[in-house]
Amino acid sequence: MDAAATDPDYDVLVAGGGLAGAALACALGATGWRIGVLEPGGAGDRRAIALSASSERVFRALGLWEAVAPRAVPIRMVHVSQQGRFGVVRLRAEDTGLPTLGQVLHHEDLLHALHARIDALAQVSLLRGWRATGLAEDAHGVTVTVSAHGGTGGRDHLRARLVVAADGARSVLREALGIPAQVTDYGQQALVCTLETARETRGVAYERFTPDGPLALLPAGARQCTLIWSRPEADAARLATEPAERLGVAVQAAFGHRLGRLRVAGPVQRFALRMLRAERNVAGRVVLLGNAAHTLHPVAAQGFNLALRETAWLAELLYGQWRAGAPPGAHGILEQFARRCAADLERTARFTDALARLFTTPGLGPLRSAALAGLDLAPPLRRRLARLGMGLYGAVPRLVAGVPLQEDERCMPIW
Ligand SMILES: Cc1cc2nc3c(=O)[nH]c(=O)nc-3n(C[C@H](O)[C@H](O)[C@H](O)COP(=O)(O)OP(=O)(O)OC[C@H]3O[C@@H](n4cnc5c(N)ncnc54)[C@H](O)[C@@H]3O)c2cc1C
Repeated sequence: MDAAATDPDYDVLVAGGGLAGAALACALGATGWRIGVLEPGGAGDRRAIALSASSERVFRALGLWEAVAPRAVPIRMVHVSQQGRFGVVRLRAEDTGLPTLGQVLHHEDLLHALHARIDALAQVSLLRGWRATGLAEDAHGVTVTVSAHGGTGGRDHLRARLVVAADGARSVLREALGIPAQVTDYGQQALVCTLETARETRGVAYERFTPDGPLALLPAGARQCTLIWSRPEADAARLATEPAERLGVAVQAAFGHRLGRLRVAGPVQRFALRMLRAERNVAGRVVLLGNAAHTLHPVAAQGFNLALRETAWLAELLYGQWRAGAPPGAHGILEQFARRCAADLERTARFTDALARLFTTPGLGPLRSAALAGLDLAPPLRRRLARLGMGLYGAVPRLVAGVPLQEDERCMPIW
């Protein structure tokens, strides 16, 4: 019998156990399918991630919120300003009718919670140290070629009915599929580090636009916040090697004194800033998810939040297939997934890209000041903007509505 026609190793094989791939594997734990997750393992990441209200609901619906909540810092207000000019916008949680605008967590805490859940699910296997090196599709499924640090026990490939490429911005599987990606290089890097503040942060996230790039301070504790400062590449490289005291002075000069004296506390990480958009996120029985499909500038803190909404759509559609006894990815369900995600992706990518450029375009200062001041005085517009940032816009999948996949569909709230 043809080897390809025999039982596959997995129903769904996820290449990449980062935030997006691991979240999908957790959600698919609701099915009875065998799920494999390949994760080569990378350096620890102390980056803060601002989770939108939509993402918090997904974590709650997956029963994972309790695991991360003790370390979550709620965002109650977002304060937007521009350096050297008047005009401020304050987006408040109470404007939206919700208790918080979002929550700040550490990337590694989120990842730890997701991996711990995977380890607890009998039918989901996290193959630590394993990486995908290529793939080929045939009439029965997909063959993924693999390698592993500690050896693969003689396996050079794994077979699956459906493959999800969640292997990051430099996705090997996207390359192997020949899917082109449009890349915009912002010529900037983000400097990320922890700051101690003389004044209490009180749940306020700051977004300050400077002529060289946006500077964000996310609350990380009573007197602690995370800096995400986008700077031109050469400047970021120089600042990253400055002694902590001099970097602190530079941050203070750009941010001002709203939080009193700022002190750099901890190592500085650097991230190159590019926008990447794959031409499509579905090819045959392969889906691109998260950074593999799109990477956004961090200015609006949308990358993972968007990826999680897409994960929620994919999980919902696949869960429906499992309940109907259909194989994963059959009957045009992946095309349906692509269609459901299209508007959200377009809206979020455009919004993020516009923000990244708007405040570094010379000559628009007075106009921007007037726009910020006007927005601050227009509650309906502020509310709309806040809901966009929170990911609660248009039709949302069940998990984003906070409803577990297994729950009776009649309980589905109407948005
Ligand atoms: C400075 C900065 C701040 C950010 N802040 C926010 C924020 O506040 N809010 C927000 O929503 N988003 C934010 N983002 C975006 C967020 O980090 C990404 O959207 C998110 O990490 C995407 O997760 P991912 O799993 O798709 O990709 P990745 O995190 O890149 O994970 C990919 C995974 O695939 C694995 N892998 C790589 N190659 C292979 C292979 N060949 N085979 C198998 N596995 C492989 C890797 O080891 C990794 O675990 C920020 C980004 C940056 C740069």
